[in-house]
Amino acid sequence: MEPGHKLQLRFWGVRGSTPAPGKDKLVYGGNTPCVEIRTASNQVLVFDAGSGMRELGHQLASEFAGQDLSVHLFLTHFHWDHIQGLPYFQPLFSPDTRLNVHSWTSGQETRRVLEGQMGTPYFPVNFADVSARVRFAQMKSERVKIGDVSVESFPLNHPQGAYGYRIEAGGKSIVYATDLEHGDAKFDGVLRDYASGADVLIYDAQYNDEEYASHRGWGHSTWHEATRVARDAGVGRLFLFHFDPAHTDARVAESERLAAAEFEAACAAREGSVLLL
Ligand SMILES: [Zn+2]
Ligand SMILES: [Zn+2]
Repeated sequence: MEPGHKLQLRFWGVRGSTPAPGKDKLVYGGNTPCVEIRTASNQVLVFDAGSGMRELGHQLASEFAGQDLSVHLFLTHFHWDHIQGLPYFQPLFSPDTRLNVHSWTSGQETRRVLEGQMGTPYFPVNFADVSARVRFAQMKSERVKIGDVSVESFPLNHPQGAYGYRIEAGGKSIVYATDLEHGDAKFDGVLRDYASGADVLIYDAQYNDEEYASHRGWGHSTWHEATRVARDAGVGRLFLFHFDPAHTDARVAESERLAAAEFEAACAAREGSVLLL
């Protein structure tokens, strides 16, 4: 990271629900959620283990070749689009990797879930046999300090539950809030509190208003609501995220344009894009 910056954000997967490759999805990308945040001291934090985590793994494996690699993985929830990249994460198969998995469930429960998706007959290597040293930690209500960065979690309105995260270092902050449905006053208030004054808000914008009307209760939000949250919370920048797998680049670009008309510093997250704070 260039000197003077406190956080680096990189999108490895921005698509929701299921990977959606295709010629008409090349601009924003088809991989499911995976967001990397680096700190000035080069701590590696990863939010969600969607299919984008595979490419991240290749990048980390070459960058840290022959060195110890410590990764802190924070999971929002266990829907498949948020964990399916983990079996393909190359550093998982290196004894030089320490993988710390954080989630709101007990470590035992998180292990059970992740072992499940790699169990026979779903995957050829069982989770218990990977070479990396894996530890599981349960998020508590208070903030977690990892070196020069702090992470707080807060509950989101989503089927079977999900958690958002606020990441802070050196006075800079990023809020990751995906897989949530707006409209519940309590959850809406919690989100605004945690997003308050953040430099960056990453927000679930799966639908437009018309689509949302026929998907109530599915646990997702809209680009329109994203702009309201961004304005209410006074964030610096808004990234639309978790795009519907059916949405082409043209559709996402339309949401981006409409959102920017409501909140100027709004854009759609793009796989591979990097932001320095
Ligand atoms: Zn999802
Ligand atoms: Zn979900």
